[in-house]
Amino acid sequence: MKTFLSGRTAHTFEQIVENVLKSDFENIYTKVDPKTGLHAVIAVHSTKRGSAIGGCRNLPYPNTAMAIHDAMALAQMMTYKAAISDLPHGGAKAVLIQPKVIKDRRAYMHAFGEFVHQLKGRYITAIDSNTNTEDMAFIAEVTPYVLCTNQQRDNKPNAGNPAPSTALGVKRAIEAAIAHCLPEKKLSNLHVAIQGVGAVGFLLAKLLCEAGAKVTVTDRDQEKVQRCSDELTVQTTTPDKILSTPCDILSPCALGHVLTPQTIPGIQAKIIVGAANNQLGSPEASTLLQARSICYIPDFLANAGGLIFAAGLFHHLNDAAILEKTNTIYDRVLNILEVAVKRGVTPLHSCYQIVQQGLEATQCVPIK
Ligand code: NAD
Repeated sequence: MKTFLSGRTAHTFEQIVENVLKSDFENIYTKVDPKTGLHAVIAVHSTKRGSAIGGCRNLPYPNTAMAIHDAMALAQMMTYKAAISDLPHGGAKAVLIQPKVIKDRRAYMHAFGEFVHQLKGRYITAIDSNTNTEDMAFIAEVTPYVLCTNQQRDNKPNAGNPAPSTALGVKRAIEAAIAHCLPEKKLSNLHVAIQGVGAVGFLLAKLLCEAGAKVTVTDRDQEKVQRCSDELTVQTTTPDKILSTPCDILSPCALGHVLTPQTIPGIQAKIIVGAANNQLGSPEASTLLQARSICYIPDFLANAGGLIFAAGLFHHLNDAAILEKTNTIYDRVLNILEVAVKRGVTPLHSCYQIVQQGLEATQCVPIK
């Protein structure tokens, strides 16, 4: 399988073209709209299993090449996430290069929505870092190819926030990893360190506190840390100390590329399970973690709750059915860990093997 994920950061247009040609991407689309300040990239990695659902992030990238690179790495990971979760969807992602000022957020989102609409359903957008359910409602004014809007769930089948489902899925993945790696222990006796307590990290901290776990949190945004201190029983630390915090489980729930040859030697956790996408900062990071006997649960396996939720909206499932599907993350993680041990490979490698089989077995042709 041609893996593009992480490690090969492109800095120039030529490197991007080279990466696209070396990989198995279906398409990369861009749109610039001077009127609203929109500068968007949609990377469609695969529609082989069905239309590609993927979030839309709005972040201040230093340059266009890095934005395209991020969109591509995330889009490929969405293909893996859909395949490993056995969802009839492909993988894509949108990145909006956040301008200094967005004068009219509705017009900005309309311009993006019209761009999404041009792809005729090959790509279905949803929320991601720094976009929200209100943005999705703006997009829904110009295209039906959007999920996770802010309308009432009962009235609008495409409404709802995926963060609770993502947090629940990560908690289930943590429980499965404990059952496999520390079978004599219970979550209520273990210590989890969470990096980033935004939409998902906060809800995960809440679920873990309710389960009786000891929880340490950090965030770059002090208000987010304060909210945890006010509403939950947690310890706090500074962002520079979280990865090396003495704990049983480390949960990266901020941004990607945090597990690197520089950070891995300092990690004290025995298990890593988090919501952040593309946590591995380089292809060898997974091997380095295994060499240190740290069990790394691949991000696209553990954080699939959000995609399961979005796909549930797409297929008009009710809340109970979405919850049932999210809970299957526990069995999936346990199965991957057992298969990895039997085959003598890392859980990441084991996931790649299953994804590859899932993609090869699919008979569908790309959506036109
Ligand atoms: P968010 O933006 O609400 O929260 C991220 C938090 O991380 C923010 O509070 C930010 O201040 C903090 N942060 C950023 N860098 C940090 C650092 N170096 N140290 C400490 N804190 C830092 O995003 P979210 O929706 O909670 O998503 C978190 C991660 O999970 C993202 O990588 C996202 O792509 C991924 N994810 C989210 C969902 C979802 O349903 N929202 C689904 C799948 C994956």
